[in-house]
Amino acid sequence: MGNKFKNFPRVMEDALSLPGVQLFEPKPVSNELLLRVHTRELVDQTKRAWYWEGASLSVGGCVEAAERIRRGEINNALVFDVAAGHHAGPSSAWGGTYLSCLGPTIFNLREQFGPARFALLDTDCHHGDGTRAIFKGDQDVLHVCFCSQDATEDDGTKIDVAVNFGISDKEYLRMVREHFVSRASEFKPGIIFHNLGHDTATGDYGDRGLSKSFFVDLAKMVKECAERACDGRYMIITHGGARADVADYIFPRIIQVLAESRL
Ligand SMILES: [Zn+2]
Ligand SMILES: [Zn+2]
Repeated sequence: MGNKFKNFPRVMEDALSLPGVQLFEPKPVSNELLLRVHTRELVDQTKRAWYWEGASLSVGGCVEAAERIRRGEINNALVFDVAAGHHAGPSSAWGGTYLSCLGPTIFNLREQFGPARFALLDTDCHHGDGTRAIFKGDQDVLHVCFCSQDATEDDGTKIDVAVNFGISDKEYLRMVREHFVSRASEFKPGIIFHNLGHDTATGDYGDRGLSKSFFVDLAKMVKECAERACDGRYMIITHGGARADVADYIFPRIIQVLAESRL
């Protein structure tokens, strides 16, 4: 993951002092919950690796944040994530993400609170193959993934949208409106989950030519979508992206967007 969070939490100080904003320290995810999603081999292998602690705390943070949202203690959350995420499927994981974030999070919500539908938006530059594999065939999960291919699976609940290099901020936002926002409102999810990678920023390893302010505008758009679709229940999970200056710019501003109350 490099050191893109090297200036955190310092750069978030002002954002953290806004009314209603709280910082939670995560606990590691339970073994039991990981085994609902992953094979024992994958979990054991991950436990022996240097990235175990980061991955386990990241997933634990996602599970807890989603529970707090579901219980109504908070309306939305930004979860800082390392070493876990959308390339982790049931039995294999790669690409810097060694445990699934959304698998354990959604399995846990359903176990604690009963059946529910969820909308997943992935705007990291890469295809969310692990998340897709976990929810394949689950038509109560809408997964709209902006990557490098166009595809529709599972009766229209699993969608890929190709994003070309050099797309403008405005055009990307328009595509999110067309392919995600319109579907999410109809789908009536309990919560919207968003894998927000910034590897698509200009000069980063998944460069699509996007500006820093794009990511803030995107969070604002999806937050407004969540307000219409599910009473504002919205959880962002950080994903790919290596540029520390982009992380420093976008995440404090995204916290500010999330903290703005509905009028
Ligand atoms: Zn995809
Ligand atoms: Zn990526």
